[in-house]
Amino acid sequence: MSCLFCDIATKKIPAKVVREDEYTIAFHDINPAAPTHVLVIPKKHLTSISDATEADAALLGHLMLAAKTVAQELGVQDGGYRIVLNTGTNGGQSVLHLHAHVLGGRALAWPPG
Ligand code: 5GP
Ligand code: ZN
Repeated sequence: MSCLFCDIATKKIPAKVVREDEYTIAFHDINPAAPTHVLVIPKKHLTSISDATEADAALLGHLMLAAKTVAQELGVQDGGYRIVLNTGTNGGQSVLHLHAHVLGGRALAWPPG
């Protein structure tokens, strides 16, 4: 089954990559919702956080650390930022490969719409 973010992870589809390591890749969102809007994904295909198991615990920890490193490296750490996992239909998930949004560079409203 084809997956857009698996294809970005394997470089079949181009993206503006911010950082990459053994387990994750981070790239700019194509339709940014904030001055900084990066998606951090595991290279392993997981449909969403709902698909994760205990076996993925280290990978998920790694993903969160990769997200905060992106925030540091793109200079939004001091101003503050948000890490978001949209999950399933009501969560507003449109791409069915687990991804963490890293949003920063402006004051973000709460609660989300
Ligand atoms: P979701 O709505 O699933 O939480 O977020 C999916 C995100 O992926 C959206 O913010 C959307 O703009 C982004 N996106 C969709 N297609 C592409 C693409 O081909 N390239 C990149 N870089 N981002 C994409
Ligand atoms: Zn995938």
